[in-house]
Amino acid sequence: MALRVLVVGGGLMGAAAAWRLSARGHRVTVLERFGPGHDRGSSSGTSRIFRLAYPEPSYTQLALRALPLWQRLEEESGQSVLTLTGAVDHGSPETVDVLARVLAGAGRSVQRLSPGEVSDRWPGLRADTTAMYHPDAGRLHADDAVSALLKAAAQRGAEVRHGVCVTGIRHSGRTGEGVTVVTDTEDALTADAVVVAVGGWAPAFLPALVTGLPPMRVTQEQPVHFPAPDALDWPSFIHHPGAGFDQPGGVYGLGSVDGVKVGLHGVGKVVDPDHRDRTPDPAAVEWLRAYADAWLPGVAGTEPTPLTCLYTTTPDEDFVIDRQGPVTVLAGFSGHGFKFGPAIGDLAADLVEGRPGTARFALGRATPGH
Ligand SMILES: Cc1cc2nc3c(=O)[nH]c(=O)nc-3n(C[C@H](O)[C@H](O)[C@H](O)COP(=O)(O)OP(=O)(O)OC[C@H]3O[C@@H](n4cnc5c(N)ncnc54)[C@H](O)[C@@H]3O)c2cc1C
Repeated sequence: MALRVLVVGGGLMGAAAAWRLSARGHRVTVLERFGPGHDRGSSSGTSRIFRLAYPEPSYTQLALRALPLWQRLEEESGQSVLTLTGAVDHGSPETVDVLARVLAGAGRSVQRLSPGEVSDRWPGLRADTTAMYHPDAGRLHADDAVSALLKAAAQRGAEVRHGVCVTGIRHSGRTGEGVTVVTDTEDALTADAVVVAVGGWAPAFLPALVTGLPPMRVTQEQPVHFPAPDALDWPSFIHHPGAGFDQPGGVYGLGSVDGVKVGLHGVGKVVDPDHRDRTPDPAAVEWLRAYADAWLPGVAGTEPTPLTCLYTTTPDEDFVIDRQGPVTVLAGFSGHGFKFGPAIGDLAADLVEGRPGTARFALGRATPGH
């Protein structure tokens, strides 16, 4: 039976849910408070890493579920969203060994490389101790991916409304009784179900709607772009902490049309998404410049351009993808959700249709320290 579904939030996750729901024949309306392609949330910019390598095999499986969906999205929308350039992981041998084992266990190709082999193949990169390469990885074109998802959803009948802020959601708590959504621009809208994908606004928006939400930290992260004429040829890379390199969360990077993007994972200051200054921290820019001088000969000595973006991080960095009554929640993507977008859209559609969710992503799960 076709359901009437409202999706709150038109970032990556709301757009992905809208595409997968409309692909299953549901009648979808997306409500997004800002304009198309805005840069106030988590999904804007020209690049995100796609990769299969994760220490936790279920994330590798989720990325494998996303890969053919990204390719199907390209066919449906006529837009290019994913370029496979491969990924290099290097640093702590223990970390690299686990990643290689998980990939091999999933039947995927993985190559072990010495630091010398990395430099020979990608002269812009210098690898620490152990390294590995997997080819099923690369660059998602972030802004294009969000617009392609919304376009593909619209082609399947979804309505996409920008400039509409949802100010309240009312429901009895019982599945089957529907929801009423109140906005700042029009009368209340009613539907069978609502999907809430409000990114960094989740900690303020969701507690009134669902129980068992894990605590979430909203931070302003600030990667930089280094200019490099060959940026689009770079693989994505992660320098994992360990083996004498002690930066918590490590360093990630990838080529993009804006240059080689390099960033730290989840170290930004806590912010209110409605009142953040968007001013890059000069000390963090300086740290990345020094990192490039030491580890990225391909961009050493160049002038980086910073940008800012929001992370919404749970204590275990696992996502929140669950349903209570008619409310499906997509939240807490902890700085690594983009690659899984259309697979998460599919999980949201499963929940809306009444299928069970995944324990790892459940509301009310135990999280470290809570
Ligand atoms: C610097 C940076 C680098 C990253 N790198 C990677 C990477 O390499 N690989 C990877 O997999 N992931 C990466 N991520 C993570 C990934 O980008 C996010 O997980 C993902 O974009 C989250 O999307 P979202 O839809 O949850 O949030 P958002 O994109 O913020 O979307 C939420 C939307 O909800 C809207 N909204 C909020 N409140 C309301 C309301 N009341 N009414 C209507 N609309 C509302 C907002 O305007 C916003 O558009 C990175 C993130 C950042 C910040």
